[in-house]
Parts: sequence; C-alpha cells; structure tokens
Amino acid sequence: MWFLLTLKIDQILENAKAENRKILYEHEAKTIVMEYGVDTPRFQLADSRGKAVEAADSLGYPVVLKVVSPQVTHKSDVGGVLVNLKDPDEVETGFEVIAANLKRYAPKAEFTGVLVQKMAPPGFELIIGANVDPQFGPTVMLGMGGLYVELYRDVSFRIAPINEEDAEEMIEELKASKILKGYRRQPRLDIGAIVDALVKVSNLTARYEGVIEQLDLNPVLVYEKGLQAVDARIILKSSSSMPR
Ligand code: ADP
Ligand code: MG
Repeated sequence: MWFLLTLKIDQILENAKAENRKILYEHEAKTIVMEYGVDTPRFQLADSRGKAVEAADSLGYPVVLKVVSPQVTHKSDVGGVLVNLKDPDEVETGFEVIAANLKRYAPKAEFTGVLVQKMAPPGFELIIGANVDPQFGPTVMLGMGGLYVELYRDVSFRIAPINEEDAEEMIEELKASKILKGYRRQPRLDIGAIVDALVKVSNLTARYEGVIEQLDLNPVLVYEKGLQAVDARIILKSSSSMPR
C-alpha cells in the first residue's frame, strides 16, 4: 500500500522534473494530497469542448471549470475559474470563455485545456499550507481563508512533523476557532477533519523534504462533517532530488 502510494507520487514528481516544471498542475497537486488522504472534489482533465462536457456529464452538475496551463499558477487572475456551471451548454461556453480569457490576460501562456471538477458546497474557508523555513526546515500553517486572511492575519505555524495534539493547538490558536466550534447559533464544524488534514499535510511535507518547497491548499472548505480541498498548489525545489 505504502509502496503504491509513493509510486504514484514519485511518477508525478519525475514527470514535472522531465518537463522542467517547478510548479505542479492543480490536478497533480491534488492527486498527491489525495494519496495522503485529504479529500478533494472529483475532477477530470479535458482538452476540448466536447471532452469537457463528457467530463461534466460523468461527474454530475454543477461543475467548476479551471484553466490548465504550465505558465499559470493563480488561475483567477487570468479569468481561469468558472464556478457553478449547471448544464452542458454552460460548460461548452465556459470552455471557450476560459480559452479566450487566457489569450487576453496571459497571451504567452499555453492553453493545455481545462480541469472539470465537481462543485463543492459552500463551507467555512481555511488555508492549510506548508513551507520550508531556511532555519527550521518544513513547517505547516493553518489560517483563515477568504477575505479574512488579509484583514485579520489569523494564522498559526508549527515545525513539521506535527502530531494530533499539535494540530489541535494550532486550531485553538486561531481567533476563528470560536467560529469553528459553533459560535452563537452556527453549527460546530468538523474539527477532527481539520486535525486530520493538518497531520497528513505535515507527513507529506516531512516525507518530501528537499523536494517540495511549498504547498497550499487554498481554500479548504470545512463542513459539519468533513472538508474538501478545492484548490491545491505545490511548488518544487529547484534542484530537487528524490528522497531515498
Ligand atoms: P486560484 O488559482 O485562483 O486560487 P482556485 O482553484 O482557488 O483558483 O479557485 C478560485 C475560487 O473558486 C476558490 O477560492 C473557490 O472559492 C472557488 N472554487 C474553486 N474550485 C471549487 C470547487 N471545486 N467547488 C467550489 N468552489 C470552488
Ligand atoms: Mg486558490
């Protein structure tokens, strides 16, 4: 099991290396975090309008369409994310809109296609991240997502690897923890799922120390039951060597 898991991840990493890409595609980053057990909305790649519709039909509506381009990391910045597409017509049009937006906002970027994914229901937005600190090595980060990131800078950090107690403390340190636990009449959100995701991200970054430079799950949508990483970004170290 462990062997199979590493095999798939290593293949993604080898591939990126061969193509000289430091930044993984969203679907690659998501595949890696999924292998570690973090939930993401189901997705399929499509390199044509027709395939995008086929993918959407098989995933079920509503769907989200996102640009796939080796040069694009912040997809919204190039008009590359369309949410809540409800039928095949909207997907067909959406495919063309994304292609046109890319041409307009990033004329030099290659258009590889789109990532069709199941639209996740609204949830409480958090950010889970990992970074390599020059002094402390791999670290994990938990923060509030959405508008609140800039407004409140509500974040907590730990040196990886962390255990469940560390993860619980990280959540406790957030001002938002009150909301997570069910402020006023709000429902209590799945704290256990956040703990679990933090530990998994920590394990992943610790395991791939020297290979993964940065990881962002932004946003993660948290529910009363479970959570979903709806976006994932992984940046590799320039001179990455595979772990033994
Ligand atoms: P970016 O590269 O711009 O960060 P994201 O993948 O984060 O692109 O998408 C932008 C926004 O669209 C997200 O912050 C989220 O609000 C929404 N979104 C993206 N994917 C989904 C999804 N599968 N389900 C629901 N909302 C989504
Ligand atoms: Mg994002």
